[in-house]
Amino acid sequence: MNVLVVGAGIAGAVTARRLAEENGHHVLIVEKRDHIGGYCYDYRSEEGILVHKYGPHIFRTQSKKVWDYLSRFTQWHDYQHKVLANVNGHFYPMPINLDTVNRFLGTNYSSKEAEEFFARSRTASGTIHSVKDVIESQIGPEFYHAFFEGYTEKQWGAPCEQLPAEIVARIPIRSGRDDRYFIHKYQAMPKDGYTQMIRRILDHPNIHVLLNTDYRQIKDLGGFSHIYCSAPIDEYYDYRYGRLPYRGVRFEFFTLPCKQYQPVAVVNYPNNYDYTRITEFKHFYINNTKNTVIAKEYPGGGTLEPSYPIPTEENKELYQKYSRLADEATTFIGRLGEYRYYSIDQIVESILGMELV
Ligand SMILES: Cc1cc2nc3c(=O)[nH]c(=O)nc-3n(C[C@H](O)[C@H](O)[C@H](O)COP(=O)(O)OP(=O)(O)OC[C@H]3O[C@@H](n4cnc5c(N)ncnc54)[C@H](O)[C@@H]3O)c2cc1C
Repeated sequence: MNVLVVGAGIAGAVTARRLAEENGHHVLIVEKRDHIGGYCYDYRSEEGILVHKYGPHIFRTQSKKVWDYLSRFTQWHDYQHKVLANVNGHFYPMPINLDTVNRFLGTNYSSKEAEEFFARSRTASGTIHSVKDVIESQIGPEFYHAFFEGYTEKQWGAPCEQLPAEIVARIPIRSGRDDRYFIHKYQAMPKDGYTQMIRRILDHPNIHVLLNTDYRQIKDLGGFSHIYCSAPIDEYYDYRYGRLPYRGVRFEFFTLPCKQYQPVAVVNYPNNYDYTRITEFKHFYINNTKNTVIAKEYPGGGTLEPSYPIPTEENKELYQKYSRLADEATTFIGRLGEYRYYSIDQIVESILGMELV
């Protein structure tokens, strides 16, 4: 084995495959968990429902290159993701579209009238400091309070007025009635699940996977000509500059004796309960099972691993400090190695574009 890859998530798997297939390397992957797949890991419930252990993962991409690459390792199940927000007991499409506006306001606006409504409601964009400023400057206070304030405060455990503006992205608003959560050209679920897809990526005679192994158990890291590491970069350097902060999530799974629990795969609960959203997994595929499996998602605490990097300037600088420690024989990859939020397709795209040893 001449190259070491740390972590058998999608980043480690695609890196290993390229190293083996394109450059003829012999690759050892060490994975501290007892399974491959990383955060994309899924497994079948007793009745065969594919359950995503680390939260709902919906594949989407605009990149034909990524789609074609992954299609070598999986067939696809057509799936268009839909999300509803439960506000005071009523369901509203998310992201906000024309139906959200009309149902919430009790109006019958056309697209143009809805746009005019938001133009009137937006708060004047003076200096933007907080999450509240960002969102209100885009959609006004009424929709901010109903759909975003409580959700964001639950996620971050702090009032939106105190949360820095950079942690929130632009709020999408659809002028029409398209109620799909994503509008990417390619959108689907791997036919047999993510774990099977990743298993096939790793299925190459030059790739050897060692589960239940922390890379720190491998005594001679210097015995490899190169290391690709998708484990946390701060951990790799023994947290010498302190920890890179993450927002955590935690899931509670339930098998319920009903055919269907909710109308779509994901329902957000911005204002009630302690959980932020509920996922019902059987919506991702066709499942005529008697029971259903749901997961309630709670912010922070008890998380198995850091979930979402927090993209403040301070944290980015701390990451840069760590990345300057890397020598020529070490490359950090993926969401933990690069400390950035990557969707699955973005990871694959970045690794396909990387020059490898
Ligand atoms: C809650 C949540 C929902 C998401 N939903 C979506 C979605 O709907 N669609 C989408 O495209 N993306 C989604 N993502 C993003 C997606 O999970 C990531 O893009 C992807 O899984 C990251 O792959 P990775 O290989 O970089 O990291 P990981 O999957 O985390 O893999 C890193 C691997 O390294 C291993 N490791 C860590 N430390 C060590 C060590 N010391 N020794 C050995 N191994 C180690 C870990 O066990 C892990 O298996 C979501 C992310 C989160 C947090």
